[in-house]
Amino acid sequence: MFDETAFRDPRLCRGLLDRLRRALDGEGRSMRFMEVCGTHTVAIFQSGLSSMLPENVAHISGPGCPVCVTHDAEIALMLNLAGRENLILATFGDLLRVPGPEGTSLKHAKAAGASVEIVYSPLEALTLAEKNPAAVVVFPGIGFETTAPTVAATVLTARQKKLDNFCVLCLHKLVPPALRALLDDDTSAQIDAFLLPGHVSTVIGLEPYAFLARDYHMPAVVGGFEPADILLALSLMAEQLRDHAPAVCNAYPRAVNDAGNPRARALTDMVFRPCDALWRGLGAIPESGLALAPEYADMDAAKRFNLALEQHPEPKGCRCGDVLKGRASPPQCPLFGKKCTPAAPVGPCMVSTEGSCAAWHNYMET
Ligand code: SF4
Repeated sequence: MFDETAFRDPRLCRGLLDRLRRALDGEGRSMRFMEVCGTHTVAIFQSGLSSMLPENVAHISGPGCPVCVTHDAEIALMLNLAGRENLILATFGDLLRVPGPEGTSLKHAKAAGASVEIVYSPLEALTLAEKNPAAVVVFPGIGFETTAPTVAATVLTARQKKLDNFCVLCLHKLVPPALRALLDDDTSAQIDAFLLPGHVSTVIGLEPYAFLARDYHMPAVVGGFEPADILLALSLMAEQLRDHAPAVCNAYPRAVNDAGNPRARALTDMVFRPCDALWRGLGAIPESGLALAPEYADMDAAKRFNLALEQHPEPKGCRCGDVLKGRASPPQCPLFGKKCTPAAPVGPCMVSTEGSCAAWHNYMET
C-alpha cells in the first residue's frame, strides 16, 4: 500500500513546481494543458494548484465529467422511459438533476410520479429487477471506460439469472476518440499537452493514446490525483515540449499499469461493441460510444422501447459546449453564478461536483 499523503508533501511539491518552471523557462515558453477527467478538475482546484501554477501554464478542463457530456437528447430518452407504466428507471443520483430539453429533469419526472429510483451500482438495479418481476427495470449506463466493465458484468449476471425484466440504456462514452475529435476541431481551444485520466487509464492502459504523440505530436501524460502526481505529470509534459519529444507516458505507475487491466477490457469487449455517440458540446463522434453486442440486444432499452435520439435546442445562454471544448472558462458564461448555480443548475457542467462550472463555483473567487 502507498501512503497517499506522501504525494501531498509541500517540499516535494515545491521541488516539482521548480522543475516545471525550469522546463518552461525561456522567452515565449508556455503550456496550455487540458485535463479530461472530472477528478482532476476538482483535484486541481481543491488542492490550490490552480492558483499556484506558473503564469505561463494554463489549465483547461475538457470533456471529462460523465454527467457533463451526457447529451440532452440522451436525457430526453430517460425522460421518455421514466413516464411509462410498469417501468422503473434505476439511475445514479447525479443524473436526476441534469437538465434535459426545456429544463426538465428526472427530478421533475420523479416529483410528478414517475418511477425513478436512485441506485449506487448497476448490480443494485439488477436486485430491483428481481424484486419487481412485474416491472421492467432500466439502468442508464453512462460513464467512460471505467464504468463499462461493471455494467458488462451486470448484463452477464442478468443473463445467467435468466432475468428478462432488466435492460440497459447504453450511453457509455470512450475517451480516446473524443481527444482525437477535439484536436481535429478547429473551434476547440488551443491545446499543447494532455493530462490523461488516471481512472480510465487503469482500464485501457497507454496504447489507445499512442496516436496523440504519433499523429498530433502532442505530449500526453497519465497523472494521479494528489498535488505531486499532477505536478510531476505537468513537469514531464513541459520537458517534452521543451525537448520537442512528444510521448505518451505514465506518471501514475502506483495505480496504472502501462497495459491497463486486460480482464476489465475483456468483460467490456464481451458485452459491448463500439458505436457512434453524441456528446454534449462536441456533437456526434464516430466510434466514441458503446452499444450492446447483438447477443445482448434483448437487454438494450433503446431497441426494446424503440427509442431514437432527437436533437433539442440547448438551454438559452448556456455555454456548456464551449466550456467542454475549453473555448470558454465557466465565468465567461453569462449565467454563471447568477441563473446557474450548483443549487439550481441550468447546464450539466454545474450539476456534478466534478463539472467545470461547479468546480469553479465551489473553489474559485470570481
Ligand atoms: S454556468 Fe451553467 S449554463 Fe453556463 S456553461 Fe456552466 S453549466 Fe452551462
